[in-house]
Amino acid sequence: MDAPRFAYQPLPVRVVFGAGVLEDLPAEVDALGLSRVLVLSTPGRRADAGRVAALLGGRAAGVHAGAVTHVPAGVAAEACRAAADAEADGLVSFGGGSAVGLAKAVARETGLPAVAVPTTYAGSEMTPVWGMTEDGVKRTGRDPRVLARTVLYDPSLTLGLPPAVSAASGMNAMAHAVEALYAPDGAPVVSLMAEEAVRALAAALPEVVRDPGGLTARTEALYGAWLCGTCLGAATMGLHHKLCHILGGSLNLPHAETHTVLLPHALAYNAPAAPDAVRALRRALGRDDPARALWDLAGSLGSPRSLRDLGADPAHLDGVVARAVGGGFANPRPVEEAGLRALLGDAWEGRPPA
Ligand code: NAD
Repeated sequence: MDAPRFAYQPLPVRVVFGAGVLEDLPAEVDALGLSRVLVLSTPGRRADAGRVAALLGGRAAGVHAGAVTHVPAGVAAEACRAAADAEADGLVSFGGGSAVGLAKAVARETGLPAVAVPTTYAGSEMTPVWGMTEDGVKRTGRDPRVLARTVLYDPSLTLGLPPAVSAASGMNAMAHAVEALYAPDGAPVVSLMAEEAVRALAAALPEVVRDPGGLTARTEALYGAWLCGTCLGAATMGLHHKLCHILGGSLNLPHAETHTVLLPHALAYNAPAAPDAVRALRRALGRDDPARALWDLAGSLGSPRSLRDLGADPAHLDGVVARAVGGGFANPRPVEEAGLRALLGDAWEGRPPA
């Protein structure tokens, strides 16, 4: 490592981790001084969200099961109305990045404090980054008001996450750690978390896919996901996240799967300019070529490895290249057109990273 020079600002999130910690939710809500919290979830998880509300008893102001991916502005406005109608004094998001994203949108608008109970590996619960989609364009920003006050990570809540969703969600999480390792605002403690996160997820995911109901591997995967989310909250992401943002927004591709396909290629592109990151990932993955190791891992998990398989229209790829080249974002290697075309070509075809 070069002579260290860094700034690091830990975020004030209380984290409670372990199988069964959902039982602590009422006490955690009390500790925040909240007495009427609205429980937010996706429509498919309404029944489980209802059980969370039942656990909260008189502290629950109701369930709003309206979350959808990428937080459409109308969906956010509806949730704000639901919170006002219920006279909620706080929010509990129950679910993955979609439920957390909706809580953030409401918190940003109303200032209501939020508790997150994540049930995927997306990591949004550890970040002050909000997103909102309007007229097909997703805007994101950082705002301390959207940061969860408390996060309860209960691996037993992830046992029902289907293997394919678990695999893609875990690869999505690893992308946060990988890009934190070469971020312009990285720090030694963030790199330690990132390396440990990749190690934990790479070890746990094959077992999660083999036996989705096994609590030991689920616990290690969620532990890795927490670290990945912390990395995402602490460091500025680069080319990989930029490409996923553009592809997800303009081509409407599935979020976690898009991350899964692109991560090995984005890492291969950046590797020559990020030797410290490559060294850390070699240790974490136990392989000389971390980009190839991640591509192999995705294959062994049965995850998609080509943009074509995700339903991307190749006619849009020129536009993606143009937006990324002109994107003006931090990245260890300059983002130039020919390299980007080659990267997307490999990702389109499902070839191993070059
Ligand atoms: P998601 O929240 O949409 O969940 C995927 C699906 O799995 C949903 O249908 C959900 O109902 C279901 N599900 C969730 N947990 C389950 C469980 N334990 N058992 C069974 N089914 C379950 O998807 P995601 O990948 O978690 O999040 C993606 C969204 O999060 C995207 O909109 C992305 O942009 C956002 N995100 C934001 C940040 C940030 O910092 N702002 C970080 C990561 C992701």
